[in-house]
Amino acid sequence: MHNETSESAEEPPSSTVLDKLKQFRSVGRGFWQDIQESSWNDWRWQLKNRITSVDQLQRLMPTLTPEEFAGATLANNKLAMAITPYFFNLIDPADENCPIRWQVIPRIQETHNAPWEMSDPCGEDSHSPIPGLVHRYPDRVLLLVTDRCAAYCRYCTRSRLVSNASGYDFHPEFDRQIEYVRNHSEVRDVLLSGGDPLLFSDDKLENLLKRLREIPHLEFLRIGTRIPIFLPQRITPELCAMLRKYHPLFISVHSNHPRELTIEVRESLGRLADAGIPLGNQSVLLRHVNDDPVIMKAHVQKLLMCRVRPYYIYQCDLISGSAHLRTSVRKGLQIMEELRGHTTGYAVPQYVIDAPGGGGKVPINPDYVLERDSEKVIVRNYEGKVFEYPEAVDGTPLVEPPKEVEESELVQS
Ligand code: SF4
Repeated sequence: MHNETSESAEEPPSSTVLDKLKQFRSVGRGFWQDIQESSWNDWRWQLKNRITSVDQLQRLMPTLTPEEFAGATLANNKLAMAITPYFFNLIDPADENCPIRWQVIPRIQETHNAPWEMSDPCGEDSHSPIPGLVHRYPDRVLLLVTDRCAAYCRYCTRSRLVSNASGYDFHPEFDRQIEYVRNHSEVRDVLLSGGDPLLFSDDKLENLLKRLREIPHLEFLRIGTRIPIFLPQRITPELCAMLRKYHPLFISVHSNHPRELTIEVRESLGRLADAGIPLGNQSVLLRHVNDDPVIMKAHVQKLLMCRVRPYYIYQCDLISGSAHLRTSVRKGLQIMEELRGHTTGYAVPQYVIDAPGGGGKVPINPDYVLERDSEKVIVRNYEGKVFEYPEAVDGTPLVEPPKEVEESELVQS
């Protein structure tokens, strides 16, 4: 039996930083001290009072850098921008490198496009048999049900679509989406995403879930949302009571940095977990935000304390205007190397590249298998110690060893 506690327990040198990053804090009303508690806790008030213009932003944060000012000037003309007051309070205005700031305040660099960047890096549009439905994997579909989010991330894979800032003209057709699922008996899993489905009213969301649940071959429903992080006030007891009627229902949240996991967020996630909803987290690996093993370790450990299983770390997609936020795969592998074995297995997410152009998620792992033939597998563990595992009689490798890829074999996106 594997016993995790028998591993050598060395004290990491950065434990003080780690402990500090793992502390839970309440955001409080911050810049909005004059607002009544009841308004502050009302998710509709939060939405109505989002920061959406450069003037609002500059009033609250006179420390905007020239790059931020120029980026925010284009807000909602070319670039989507909205920040809930709750989430805005997490920004440190005195710190130009605040990891929250990098995620939600536009910079002029977003208008610079590298030749390999794309408006639809995961090839969703080319896998959409009908508008707002992506069928890329054999047994599951993605329903894009809205183009609205509580706040807009600077690296969003769907920035072509969200908030309609670039004129995508998104109109999901629920009847056709549901009809498609009904007519495809191989689809056993539907993921509702967008945009953010939890921005719908309880009734509207319930209507959708109910209609999907009536499809006999549908085994499993999922919702992808960043609302518990951007707008924890939305996770009301009423919403949770409604959601629990549609099990098995999983929710994937999206948090990138331990500072996002506040007391308010922990409580909102707790309400979802109490409704019996298994929670996973998807992070995007971002330069200036979380491309650091200590930050990532604090984040995944803190997620477990919020009853959320770290699920994926995504290498940042090749989204137009994202070069300033992309970090190397080498850095991602280094982070994975420093998580696996060094912390609870449940805390270790799968690192993936969403293959450019629509190839789907490809797992990326440090090389633990050093050698393999029909008689043995040579592996190394997280400490770098090498072990030999004798292969069983049917152990002839299933795949040829890696070879160099010819240019002509590459799938062009
Ligand atoms: S919440 Fe998700 S869909 Fe919305 S802007 Fe952020 S990454 Fe994009």
